[in-house]
Amino acid sequence: MVAMSRILIVEDEMKIARLVEEYLSEAGFDVSIARDGRAGVAEARSTQPDLVILDLGLPGMDGFDVARAIRERSSTPIVMLTARSEETDRIVGLELGADDYVVKPFSPRELVARVKAVLRRTQGQVQSDVVRVGELVIDRITRTVRSGEKAIEVTTTEFDLLETMASQPGRVFTRSQLLDSIRGVSFESYERAIDSHIKNLRKKLEPDPREPRYILTVYGVGYRFQDA
Ligand code: CA
Repeated sequence: MVAMSRILIVEDEMKIARLVEEYLSEAGFDVSIARDGRAGVAEARSTQPDLVILDLGLPGMDGFDVARAIRERSSTPIVMLTARSEETDRIVGLELGADDYVVKPFSPRELVARVKAVLRRTQGQVQSDVVRVGELVIDRITRTVRSGEKAIEVTTTEFDLLETMASQPGRVFTRSQLLDSIRGVSFESYERAIDSHIKNLRKKLEPDPREPRYILTVYGVGYRFQDA
């Protein structure tokens, strides 16, 4: 049950930690706070929270080390808090296995919404054979794509990219993660190749490719599929 989930906040700025705690408690979560990376890793291991909110800027053991240490032993979802200027941090964090990020200064309401979305995505991981978003129908068994009644021809690489993103709507994927998702079927090794596949997919899928409804750009980071 999402409403009873336990959340661990790893954040050295107590003002922020308390504010987030307040909002999450109000939303029905059971919240604890760790004030530095070591305490965060220890607590994550001993109490096994349902989700960790992890500030990247921590004294001593930084957020990346904390994420690595948590990922060594568990797949507990991680939502990172990052500074506005640090786009590369977001990419590194996502590639270390974080599930999402929120940029400081953030609205606590937005953070609560992200936490709920990540929990929905990670707790309700029943992979159905068919993904439906708007008019779009993606069938994993027949590996076909339809928009309404209309069949859409996609290449193997395009299908794999689409399936990867659509399986976890709302999740941000970096180009490198998307490249990994097509490695089995393609010799491409250049992250920017992803952009041209996405461009082609949009031409095929989007009612208006200039205003994408399904495949959204996350500036400086990568792409995500519309969270229906
Ligand atoms: Ca901090």
